[in-house]
Amino acid sequence: MAIPWLIVGAGLHGVHVARSLIERAGVDPANIALLDEHETPLTRWLGQCTQVGMQTLRSPAAHHLDVPAHSLLRFAGQVDRARLAGRYRRPALDLFNRHALHVVGTLSACRYIQGRATDLQASGNGYALHWRRSSSEAGTVEANRVVLATGPGAPAVPHWAGPGVQHVLAENFRRQAVANARCPAVVGTGLSGAQLALSLARPDRPVTLIGPPAPLSDFDSDPCFLGRRCLENFQALPDAQSRRAVIDTARAPGSLPPIMAEALQRAAQDGRLRRIQARVNGWQDGLLHTDTDAAVRSDAVVLATGFEASPPLQPWLAQAAKTLSMPVDARGTPLPDAQLAWRPGLYVTGRLAELVVGPAAPNIAGARLAARRICAGQTGPAGPKNYGV
Ligand SMILES: Cc1cc2nc3c(=O)[nH]c(=O)nc-3n(C[C@H](O)[C@H](O)[C@H](O)COP(=O)(O)OP(=O)(O)OC[C@H]3O[C@@H](n4cnc5c(N)ncnc54)[C@H](O)[C@@H]3O)c2cc1C
Repeated sequence: MAIPWLIVGAGLHGVHVARSLIERAGVDPANIALLDEHETPLTRWLGQCTQVGMQTLRSPAAHHLDVPAHSLLRFAGQVDRARLAGRYRRPALDLFNRHALHVVGTLSACRYIQGRATDLQASGNGYALHWRRSSSEAGTVEANRVVLATGPGAPAVPHWAGPGVQHVLAENFRRQAVANARCPAVVGTGLSGAQLALSLARPDRPVTLIGPPAPLSDFDSDPCFLGRRCLENFQALPDAQSRRAVIDTARAPGSLPPIMAEALQRAAQDGRLRRIQARVNGWQDGLLHTDTDAAVRSDAVVLATGFEASPPLQPWLAQAAKTLSMPVDARGTPLPDAQLAWRPGLYVTGRLAELVVGPAAPNIAGARLAARRICAGQTGPAGPKNYGV
């Protein structure tokens, strides 16, 4: 029998969509299945945060996985209020993650399938999604509606990086190998690079941080696009090309909040960090070559170069888009409708939804905007509820 809702990907977006379907659209948790290649929800997110050595979120306390806007603040109570930093009340990572796992706990009546989606086909009253867990374990889930929440795509690896160069966002990243190195080097000066370098830096063994100066910005996309005015203007744009142009202008990939730039400066003054302002263009025999005269010796090079810019359509999804004639723009990004349906009953969130949700689509705020749209199209027994973003 078909399950009413299948969410592919149990990361921040998938978990928030599940929570929203229950809270906003009145869907019975038993009518939701989450499929993820990991054994438990949020595994990739929790791993990436640890790998990077992140201490505090970039986004404010209102951006979390529950539905009511004040949920994280209430969860923090008086004890944890001190763990909300600065004027944006950015939550400490452990507070954010405890709250996120609390939200995951509320999904215990949902079905969880561990497996990697490999194929999607239209079937009967919905879709048939094939998954694989190992060479001998595979299965098919029939679902009336499917939400694609498969994440931001693969880590971006520059052309010069050969074997032996790790990426901090890769699942097989070995942090200990870098922590134990004699002269570790981090390539990439955005927030992940800065957090990684600071978390590895020691007075007796400085870390080298290499890359052009990062532009300063509190957030990685213009917060105006979380509000009605900018979003309505964005959504009024007639074609994908003009929306793409706005997204590219409003996003600040590789940028650094000023407070982190100050932390880097202090670490450099203390001798814990060596800053090289140059672009790396080669790596050979333990030497990183750059576009300046500087060459940097390192026995452990780590990339902190973010995610690939191309649309995160995995091969099975690209194939489904072709077979089911689902619309994409010139770059292959989905063109869903206003409720984020790419096709009747097939919804997208995250970067897959960016041409409707706007510049914040990959972020937690983007998950909240996307879930509202998906739920607005549903009328469960409780009907859609309005909680604010
Ligand atoms: C270090 C770091 C810090 C960040 N900090 C912030 C922040 O402070 N604020 C903010 O708003 N954003 C932040 N972001 C950006 C963004 O919110 C995160 O990248 C977030 O994890 C995106 O959530 P997601 O669910 O789209 O992707 P993911 O967390 O990657 O989840 C996608 C899930 O889908 C699963 N999956 C993918 N393909 C398949 C498949 N074929 N079959 C089955 N399962 C599949 C994956 O295993 C994964 O579990 C940060 C990102 C990083 C890397």
